[in-house]
Amino acid sequence: MNGDSAQAAGLKRSEFDLPDGLVYLDGNSLGALPRAVAARIDGAVKAEWGRMLIRGWNQAGWVDLPARVGGKIAKLIGAPDASVMVGDSTSVNVFKALNAALDLMSDTESGRTVILSDSGNFPTDLYIAQGIAGAQDRWQLKIVDPDEVAGAIDESVAVLMLTEVDYRTGRLHDMAALSAAAHRAGARVIWDLAHSAGALPVDLGNVEADFAVGCGYKYLNGGPGAPAFIYVRPDHADRFGPRISGWFGHEAPFAFDQHFRPASGVQRMMVGTPPVLSLSALDTALDLWADVDMHEIRAMSIALSQLFIAEVESRCAGFGLRLASPRDPQRRGSQVSFRHAEGYAVMQALISGNVIGDFRAPDIIRFGFAPLYNSADDVRQPTGRSGR
Ligand SMILES: *Cc1c(COP(=O)(O)O)cnc(C)c1O
Repeated sequence: MNGDSAQAAGLKRSEFDLPDGLVYLDGNSLGALPRAVAARIDGAVKAEWGRMLIRGWNQAGWVDLPARVGGKIAKLIGAPDASVMVGDSTSVNVFKALNAALDLMSDTESGRTVILSDSGNFPTDLYIAQGIAGAQDRWQLKIVDPDEVAGAIDESVAVLMLTEVDYRTGRLHDMAALSAAAHRAGARVIWDLAHSAGALPVDLGNVEADFAVGCGYKYLNGGPGAPAFIYVRPDHADRFGPRISGWFGHEAPFAFDQHFRPASGVQRMMVGTPPVLSLSALDTALDLWADVDMHEIRAMSIALSQLFIAEVESRCAGFGLRLASPRDPQRRGSQVSFRHAEGYAVMQALISGNVIGDFRAPDIIRFGFAPLYNSADDVRQPTGRSGR
């Protein structure tokens, strides 16, 4: 750390409502509450829902929220305008993206039968792929070790589906290189950015990802159960029929036509009525990013995680902790994990000492760094700020 005041204080810590004395290192699981969100929700409930009632869809712009919020996320992940929509959960968006990617296969590509993923992927992503492969004979899911992904990309692969940052270890995939390799082999690529959006610079346009999905409630601070996002590369968006063909993905939802006609672009990925209150919270939470440079966030995140590793390894030497994350910060997302045989008990003890991280079976304790509100103080004062 260079002692710069922003880094000592957390870039925007004063804009978050965090309990005094708490060291919160779990923003990779549930982001902290931005202060402005409470007023926005209050207004959305009382002034919009309460007073406007049904008129809120137009008067308060509820109907535009999925695209408007998607536009804010697009800027954070290097996606072109109008290529990101927000709604449903990440799991559901994986389902939509994977079906769409498979549907893009032409009849001449019948030799492509493999959905390739890795054992570092988040279970729900793998479960969704298992469900699709189980329901449609043509596809088989192949799961390899993260280090073996590049070597497993060949002409049998229809879709490469990966999460950029491993939720347990923080290991970072080389998104540009793997996307390019998949494209050279003729496969489509889906990236799950759950632990990337708001944590690292992402440049979807440049890596030419075909589809991407990600979470609203982790580094984006949209609140528990915040809706997720989905990105579709613009030149694909009109080339598949959405597998979940709901009325919000219809060309003219309010024509109440009996036959489904997909909307153009990523809009066709929408399904049903958007969750207006949750979208309102995420919309306001995203305003905190408007003047933030993701490269600065990344530099701060690396400084914090390096400091954390150094402090833990010097203060806890002989305690049986082993670094589970890559030591090279360029190969790591915005989290640091350690293994310990009694990891669960260690994390419970930390939490009762007002330091919140989390535990992932069988032996991983995990600490996320969100430079919007985390700072060197969180790392250096593990017993809490106010001496509690
Ligand atoms: C957190 C996370 C999810 C969560 O999915 P939900 O549908 O929101 O529960 C999915 N995939 C990855 C990679 C995640 O890290």
